[in-house]
Amino acid sequence: MQQRKPKVCAAEGAALEIPVSQGAMECDGGWPEAEGARPEHWHLPRKKRLALDNKRWNTVVNLVLVAFVMAVPPVVVVYAGGGVAPAVWIAAAKAQLRRGSGDRSFPYTRSPPDKLLGGLLPDGLDERSCRSRYESSMYRRNPGRRPSPHLITKLRKHEELQRRCGPNTDAYNRAIQQLRSGKSVGSPECKYVVSISYRGLGNRILAAASAFLYAVLTDRVLLVDPSNEMDGLFCEPFPGTTWLLPRDFPLASYTNFSIDTAESYGNMLKNKVLSADVPVAPPTAELPAFAYLHLDHDYAHEDKMFFCDDDQRLLSNVQWLVMRTDLYTVPGLFLVTAFQEELDALFPERDAVFHHLARYLFHPTNHVWGLVTRYYRAYLARAELRVGIQVRNFNPRHAQSPHVLRQITNCVWREKLLPEVLATEEHAVPTPGAKFTAVLITSLRPWYYERIKGMYWDHATATGEDVSVHQPSHEGQQQFGKKWHDGRAWAEMYLLSLCDVLVTSGWSTFGYVAQGFGAVRPWVLHKQPENLTSAPDPPCFRDVSMEPCFHAPHVYDCKRKRGLDTGEVLPHVRHCQDVSWGLKLVDPKLYKA
Ligand code: GDP
Repeated sequence: MQQRKPKVCAAEGAALEIPVSQGAMECDGGWPEAEGARPEHWHLPRKKRLALDNKRWNTVVNLVLVAFVMAVPPVVVVYAGGGVAPAVWIAAAKAQLRRGSGDRSFPYTRSPPDKLLGGLLPDGLDERSCRSRYESSMYRRNPGRRPSPHLITKLRKHEELQRRCGPNTDAYNRAIQQLRSGKSVGSPECKYVVSISYRGLGNRILAAASAFLYAVLTDRVLLVDPSNEMDGLFCEPFPGTTWLLPRDFPLASYTNFSIDTAESYGNMLKNKVLSADVPVAPPTAELPAFAYLHLDHDYAHEDKMFFCDDDQRLLSNVQWLVMRTDLYTVPGLFLVTAFQEELDALFPERDAVFHHLARYLFHPTNHVWGLVTRYYRAYLARAELRVGIQVRNFNPRHAQSPHVLRQITNCVWREKLLPEVLATEEHAVPTPGAKFTAVLITSLRPWYYERIKGMYWDHATATGEDVSVHQPSHEGQQQFGKKWHDGRAWAEMYLLSLCDVLVTSGWSTFGYVAQGFGAVRPWVLHKQPENLTSAPDPPCFRDVSMEPCFHAPHVYDCKRKRGLDTGEVLPHVRHCQDVSWGLKLVDPKLYKA
């Protein structure tokens, strides 16, 4: 029997893609924000109600039947209503249920389970004190990218360096003495980069990942400022040592370093305390014991000279570097000629740099892992498709905006990430084998979640699929220095990364972290303009790469000493789509200018 095509609520501007039928209720005015979430606003004619009641009864009968056929061999089954259930349907229903207990089962162990992520992680760390490190592969359907053999070797060597020179070693104590003396030493046995942790969690993760790659490229020990809960959120990444900067670090005011700090590399260049221009490097004894690298979003041209070869040569003789950044500076490192050969060998897949760095460095502590795994098992594990939607409103006026809501639904419907909903109260007969999709929404507020959940509760989907909608928390606003708040944010980033499909908010480092961990190229919601009078059209775009965007790159040719569009220099360092002046690493095969 040919089925009448149901009318679906039109996503704005997408009329051509939407199946239309006669006689269905109009969508206009039925937008859930206005009334769809309140069932009392839907008045159905009595005849239609009876028809729906019949359908509901049939559904119940069907469920009983399915339970029955699971218990007895499928011969010919007579319906309570007098009909005969086709054997094909019974077989399909049975197969579906069997599949349900198999494919949807959990954890998704692979054979053999790749708990070391292809050699990325070191073996032999205590599993109980950091369960996430070796359990993560069980929770991911997408195993992610393979690390290169060179990256694996380099990481093991770097771990050895961290152990040899890290806190509580003689080498570290000697380096601290040198720092106290105020002068650099020629050929120090160990050099260090200290990463200051500040701003939101996404920024902190991108900053620490950038500092780590810089440390690896320059054979420096990475030490992370323990403030802002860095110690409570992440397990130690390096075996047999700590990456946390000891509390008695002698530069007591380092967390207050800013663009005005006299010891910043930029200010030392400006004030001619240092110069990278001289053909012969100054004697090491003339160099300061430390330099502060101000690589923050507000940094000046002189600070950005960090991304030039001559300046890197000079900095390589400074034993202690203290770095502040809220940026993902990695694409900038790819522009330093001296690092290029090594970077090519470490990351033959240019669009997976953050993916590897993040999975290597950041392991949720047991408390956060509990938040991740309990939520995942309870709400997401059994779904056949998990769609993560990250809603970040940078403008408080958009915290409850029907236009942004429409932007989200337009995106997921146009791109066919979620099924559309029927405009009528008609039930779509559940199709055997129809997918069950779980939607994970993360946002500081519950408004979008409530609307989207209400929409999928009040209306059947056009495909007969079931869609469940979940949001773990709604913290209200960003908070600083609160462990439970950061723990939830970290858990939600991680949960997003376990989704099969991602819709993220442009400009947000929160979303960048999730997409990088999960190796997912997201659909990105365009940042809304200040004055929003309608849903942005197009609502979203598919990102060319899962890499985060470097929001404030240097626009400079270090050799010719003049301005240069650094998004046009290398085939794998291109401009971002969400932040047009930003830079991101891409797979040149996928990138089209
Ligand atoms: P960005 O500001 O979007 O680039 O992301 P950040 O992670 O750097 O900073 C935003 C901060 O606000 C997060 O670290 C959280 O503290 C909070 N936040 C923003 N969105 C969410 C969310 O969806 N869930 C939770 N739990 N916190 C959020």
